[in-house]
Amino acid sequence: MAENKQADVLIVGAGIAGLMAARKLTRSGARVLVLEQNNAVGGRMATRRLGPGLADSGAQFFTAREEQFQAQIDRWLAAGLVYEWSHGWSDGSLGTTPATGYPRYAAHGGMQALAAHLAADLPVQINTRIVSIMPGGTGWTATDSSGGVYHAGALILTPPIPLALGLLDHDAAPLSFATRTILEHVDYTPCLSGLFWLNGNIHLPEPGAVQRPNATITWIADNRRKGISPGATLVTVHAGPDYSRQYWDRPDTEALNALATALQLFKDYRTEIAQAHLDHWRYAMPITTYRERYLAADGLPPLVFAGDAFGGPRVEGAALSGLAAAEYVAGSVS
Ligand SMILES: Cc1cc2nc3c(=O)[nH]c(=O)nc-3n(C[C@H](O)[C@H](O)[C@H](O)COP(=O)(O)OP(=O)(O)OC[C@H]3O[C@@H](n4cnc5c(N)ncnc54)[C@H](O)[C@@H]3O)c2cc1C
Repeated sequence: MAENKQADVLIVGAGIAGLMAARKLTRSGARVLVLEQNNAVGGRMATRRLGPGLADSGAQFFTAREEQFQAQIDRWLAAGLVYEWSHGWSDGSLGTTPATGYPRYAAHGGMQALAAHLAADLPVQINTRIVSIMPGGTGWTATDSSGGVYHAGALILTPPIPLALGLLDHDAAPLSFATRTILEHVDYTPCLSGLFWLNGNIHLPEPGAVQRPNATITWIADNRRKGISPGATLVTVHAGPDYSRQYWDRPDTEALNALATALQLFKDYRTEIAQAHLDHWRYAMPITTYRERYLAADGLPPLVFAGDAFGGPRVEGAALSGLAAAEYVAGSVS
């Protein structure tokens, strides 16, 4: 039978923004329900299993520019959930050493393990793809692809903005011109992410990763040396936005072959690819972000857009956006 559930606050998306929002609201006493389309939490903090190993496919590490997020990271460090991976990256050229800068953190067991920890005590319903949201009564009704319905006084939407906008029935829930204009302006770069299980060694510079922000291949990382794949050498390769667009609609094997050329320079000549996997991240990183940490729709029951398009990009921006959205919603439903 299709679901019919009630909560104080519905949160669409169990990425870092949705999970941080859910934790804060739960602590403030609200009855929250998080609805996630995938079969696991984490969103773009995704870790894949390939053969006997693990590889981070989306976010590779995170940084803290704001004290509030540094304090959060310090708590995760104390709890043994995350570790300092590096202070910078080499571009892979001969003779270069990694840049020395601010700390880059990674999660033990992969990025998704951190999300799973954050979700552990929360009411998160996975495998639930919301297809529409409508104002109803004093709040909102969300409907999933199996006909399940969810009611709540307030709604937080954390999918990438074009997806979030696609859920709204714009006749039943008209956004103001200003809100629509802001949201329709948000765009993201795509990223093809190739994961390669190698049957031998690869020699990437310390600490096992190369970053080249403006090249066709922007990132190569050895997840074994990162510490999340002790049983196998799994390498993550990211294509830059232009290269990703170029190979987006090509067969996976062709795109993976293009990404694999980046390994030639670093792997032993005997090392072969045992297995490979390709992820298409259509909404990898926001190109521009809205200056505030969330956007609340006016003239409707409490409806808040949150995620990495608000306040600041990346894992840090998304986490702080989730917290700020929760604070706003806690005020509006109490
Ligand atoms: C390839 C790649 C590399 C990156 N590298 C880094 C990095 O090194 N450092 C860094 O800080 N950041 C990095 N990022 C960015 C970082 O991953 C994101 O900024 C952050 O994870 C976004 O979190 P979020 O919660 O806002 O969104 P998401 O993680 O996208 O969460 C949104 C969730 O909503 C769910 N959802 C969407 N539509 C629906 C629906 N209709 N119904 C139900 N659920 C739905 C999605 O499945 C997803 O779980 C990278 C991203 C990518 C893709």
